[in-house]
Amino acid sequence: MTVELQSKLPHLGTTIFTEMSALAQQHEAVNVSQGFPDIPPPEGLVEAAIQALHDGVHQYAPMAGRSDLRHWICGHHAERHGATYDPASECTIGAGASSLLFAAITALVHPGDEVVVQTPAYDLYAPGVKLAGGHLVEVPLLNDHGTWNLEALLGAIHDGTRLVILNTPHNPTGTVCPPGFLDALADHLAEKPTLVLSDEVYGSIVHDGRAEVSLAAHPLLRERGLAFGSFGKLLQVTGWKIGWAVGPAALTAELRKVHQYDVFSTGAPLQAALASFLPTAEGRAHIDGLPALYQAKRDHLLSGLDGTAWEWTPAAGGFFQVLDARNLIDGDDGRWAREWTRTHGVATIPMSAFFAPPTPQLRICFAKEDATLDAAIERLRHIAADHVR
Ligand code: PMP
Ligand code: GLN
Repeated sequence: MTVELQSKLPHLGTTIFTEMSALAQQHEAVNVSQGFPDIPPPEGLVEAAIQALHDGVHQYAPMAGRSDLRHWICGHHAERHGATYDPASECTIGAGASSLLFAAITALVHPGDEVVVQTPAYDLYAPGVKLAGGHLVEVPLLNDHGTWNLEALLGAIHDGTRLVILNTPHNPTGTVCPPGFLDALADHLAEKPTLVLSDEVYGSIVHDGRAEVSLAAHPLLRERGLAFGSFGKLLQVTGWKIGWAVGPAALTAELRKVHQYDVFSTGAPLQAALASFLPTAEGRAHIDGLPALYQAKRDHLLSGLDGTAWEWTPAAGGFFQVLDARNLIDGDDGRWAREWTRTHGVATIPMSAFFAPPTPQLRICFAKEDATLDAAIERLRHIAADHVR
């Protein structure tokens, strides 16, 4: 008998990141699409990983992650956000922030629950909510002035809202949660049974001297939610897929019920390398140097595009710069992003892939060596010259 497959995600294809990176490879295009650095990781980290392999760290790490690495993570949150988390019961290491975000959504969302997400949004949240049987409520991230839209978010959260998912620094818009926003959210949530997931994988990467923002720093939200981080982003090792979640013991216990079966534990030698590298002087200097490193990359990209028909607001944090193509094209940014990969040799991500409003915009990953950025700039300048109206 032929079994009819009933897809649980009938409208979903392969992620735009996989598609655009493959297209870039096929056409030998400069790849500023998928968000990964081509800058090598710190030398000391690589040496620590080799050492861990020689030391025989080949078997399962503990389910919640190595204790010394969990101590580093909790110390990082204490130092930066004044937040105390117990490494034993309030911190979990997983296969990238992705696995823990997915596990948290699975653990916390019941069928029919409302989950509020600001759009444009990173593409992982919606399928997670759908698979859990939740109902996604989309609100615009930005108002007409391009700043975070508090009214839209608060207006969507009512007594029946199970979960709010935040992301700062934000992928794809490059914006950062403004001061006071979390206070207002906390006031609104005080008498509501709503939980919060805060995706902070670009946490330390903020530009122009901005302050780092974390749910962890806010007393009420710290009790209501989980904050997620990623060593991939902080150390230029996205392929290692090691991330973390911190949150109160009761929420962490629910998260681990899923994590212990979907991943159980991850990357033992890589966790060992991180635990031995991060407390060193080189490790500390690397983390402290992240804002300057990526601000310089953003500025390199934008000064290279100066005087062209591309328009932008400089990214406030993270790896991504949005370029507005309104002066170049009408309509479908997805079609043009694919077309320009083939014709102009530069791969980007169309903003429409992130449930964005229908404005032609492209997301550029600037976490790249200067030579990669220079090649991307040259091609983006050609696009502007060929299309300006
Ligand atoms: N959240 C956001 C906003 C991201 O950009 C990424 C990047 N890939 C992730 C989560 C996943 O992080 P990881 O690679 O650690 O799974
Ligand atoms: N977070 C990365 C981005 O936004 C992609 C990760 C992935 O390919 N799943 O480009």
